[in-house]
Amino acid sequence: MEHYRVKPGEVVDLSRWDPNDKGAFQGGKDEAEDAFRSLNKRLEELQELLYAENKNKLLVVLQAMDSGGKDGTIRRVFEHVNPQGVKVVSFKVPSAEELAHDYLWRVHQHVPARGEIVIFNRSHYEDVLVVRVDQLAPPAVWQKRYDHINAFERMLADEGTTILKFYLHIDLEEQKERFQARLDEPHKRWKFSLGDLEKRKQWPDYIRAYEDALGKTSTDWAPWYVVPANRKWYRDLVIATLLVETLEGLHMSYPQPEEDLDGIVIE
Ligand code: ADP
Repeated sequence: MEHYRVKPGEVVDLSRWDPNDKGAFQGGKDEAEDAFRSLNKRLEELQELLYAENKNKLLVVLQAMDSGGKDGTIRRVFEHVNPQGVKVVSFKVPSAEELAHDYLWRVHQHVPARGEIVIFNRSHYEDVLVVRVDQLAPPAVWQKRYDHINAFERMLADEGTTILKFYLHIDLEEQKERFQARLDEPHKRWKFSLGDLEKRKQWPDYIRAYEDALGKTSTDWAPWYVVPANRKWYRDLVIATLLVETLEGLHMSYPQPEEDLDGIVIE
């Protein structure tokens, strides 16, 4: 998994990572099925523990190009967790009220509380991605944001939040196929808008914006992972593995009951 981590200060060149990568599972999806199932099960146990212990907080940031698979990742990787302790927050075009505040205002109110996992479907990173590419703010404004973001995430980490950030890495060819599938399959059409084609034309600009963002904001306290995502099953496997490894690293335990309960029998 170390291979997918962006080193702090690294000058990122996304072509270093192969979007078709399938790691140790050269045999493909079927070969990985058992591994994924047991990771999913383990994730379910660890989330239950996180909730019961009510001490740690986990923030998962998902970013990707359009059709990169954020929705599918959330559906598959978290399919067995208890909804009581997990929240998904999707960041869309900011409202007038949100725009009237600083860009972290709408984000901060959704960070996880103790015992919670929060998944950001898009995030404050849009403020150095779409904002940069579409020139919604001048460079003098967005260039300062990398430092703000690092300081913000540092504060969250110091206050007990574990942060994992995933960039789902697909290529232009894969996006073409996914867009075409959305057009061809009636029940997928709702996911497609003509604006997606405009964004597709901006692909190189987005790559450049992502490379800068990943390099400048991958830190020891909030690392970025570039997740090969052309193959959905491998993407899910990488993310589930990193979630399980990270949660196991928290060395959590169930809280002790206040009294000695041994021998009590309910009549
Ligand atoms: P998604 O593509 O995530 O499934 P939508 O199709 O509703 O969801 O797209 C959300 C849109 O909101 C994206 O085009 C994204 O770039 C935009 N967006 C999110 N955050 C911001 C922001 N801070 N400023 C401008 N646009 C934003």
